Amino acid sequence: MASDSASGASMSDVLEALKSIQQVQGQMQKGVESLTQRVNQISPPSPDLADSKTSPAPAAARGLTSSPLPPPATEPAEGAETPMSAAARAALEAQKSGFTSRIILTTYPKQIGINPIPLNWGAADPKERGPVVVSRASSTIGKRNAVGDSSFPAAHGGSYSIYFALALASKQLDINHMPDFTNTEPAANIGPFPQWGDKKKIVAMDPWGHLAPWLFADTIKNENVDIRPTIAITKAHMKLPELEESVRAGRLVPDGKVCLNASGELAVTKFAVEPVWYLPGVAERFGIDEGVLRRSLFEHTGGSYPELITRNDIKTFLPPIGGLTVYCFGDPAKMSDEKSRLALRVHDECNGSDVFGSDICTCRPYLIFGIEEAVKEAQNGGSGVVIYFRKEGRALGEVTKVSLLSSKPCLAALGSVISPVVYNARKRGEDRASDYFKRTENIAGVKDMRFQALMPDILHWLGIQKIDRMLSMSNMKHDAIVGQGIPIHERVELPNELIPDDSRVEIDAKITAGYFTSGHRMTEDELKAVQGRMWEE
Ligand SMILES: [Zn+2]
Repeated sequence: MASDSASGASMSDVLEALKSIQQVQGQMQKGVESLTQRVNQISPPSPDLADSKTSPAPAAARGLTSSPLPPPATEPAEGAETPMSAAARAALEAQKSGFTSRIILTTYPKQIGINPIPLNWGAADPKERGPVVVSRASSTIGKRNAVGDSSFPAAHGGSYSIYFALALASKQLDINHMPDFTNTEPAANIGPFPQWGDKKKIVAMDPWGHLAPWLFADTIKNENVDIRPTIAITKAHMKLPELEESVRAGRLVPDGKVCLNASGELAVTKFAVEPVWYLPGVAERFGIDEGVLRRSLFEHTGGSYPELITRNDIKTFLPPIGGLTVYCFGDPAKMSDEKSRLALRVHDECNGSDVFGSDICTCRPYLIFGIEEAVKEAQNGGSGVVIYFRKEGRALGEVTKVSLLSSKPCLAALGSVISPVVYNARKRGEDRASDYFKRTENIAGVKDMRFQALMPDILHWLGIQKIDRMLSMSNMKHDAIVGQGIPIHERVELPNELIPDDSRVEIDAKITAGYFTSGHRMTEDELKAVQGRMWEE
């Protein structure tokens, strides 16, 4: 060791080692603790750093450039100043703003202060599996074992992480706020099922996400680690005008348990789920390389998550996308009971139809039909499940969808792609069923981005082993579920009388493209004769 002492680099290594010992002894206070460290193999040429406002070692001594801080209220400290004075000023700013003294651009696997809590995805025992930790709270940031953002209050928040950032920036929220989970335990029991310990079956959600604060209460309490649920379970009542009509028409008979009364009010158990991706598993599901997946996620989120590139030791990612909600009718325990019948509707969001009753597609009619059939199955002693995914417009988004529609049908119900931009294009054209998918593909470049490959995870999590009645015509959903080893015994079409006239374009196009039907599948020529209503009509 002494023989190396001539080397300045090894001297600074010693300093860093001493510093890490100090940290272990609890000398580090709150604040970010990653030490600045230069790693060559990273693409951005700019300085990468991290640090703590309590860090005694000046950045300059470690050969680092300090990265200027963002607080906008004061004049920037960078520019002509020396790194030291910039750092000092940044520390001051940090105290005022609640942010750490320097921006942490990214972290590296062996960086001092970075000690991720072990996470063994697919381990059957939750203690062995470990918690998913993504919070940037000062007590937790060095222990993170997942890439992504956390957000208040319920789960990690998915796409709402942007609002979380706003809440912090506007000082309406303290990054170090620790949630109080008193009385928030799940309102129904579920699992554990053998599927939870199979890293090939569940790759897009955390099977222990509903129990995290309780399973890891010791870690939260003793190590002050911020661990949050990614799943929440509650019981609720729901009331839909169509179901009141169903009762009036005699299709649905109130039983006081599932369908409570003559107004069609329903009792339901709800499971809200935020996405948690195990990256090797997601890559495998799509048959791609994990590195390619990481790079694409990094580059096409505007470089939002550099740890996707620098932290190959971290295999978990909380993507900023919408999650899903399970609505279970009847006893939730029956979902996983092979002896009980199960009816299932997997529905992808279509706000225009689901909420606002647009008649251009079959989304709300199919959703209501799915709920009604699920309720009947539960009333007959089985289980009825409706799963609602936030994937507006075939996951192309509402602007693309409306464009297509302004040409017309809706993407979400059919499994191919049509959106409002798509809708516009349809309505300005002749809105023929034969052009439905072409329209979408012309605008979006793909027919569908819903990627049903990840959808069956929720079925595995619910312990579902077979589906007696699948309330969907989508070939993509069907193939994804069956491909995951869950057989579908019967596929149930949306009855003709529930299809709005103007949505024939969508449904006929989907059927010709491969959607399930027990009826007639039109030829391309026949499809050309199916036309939607023009705007003026
Ligand atoms: Zn729709």
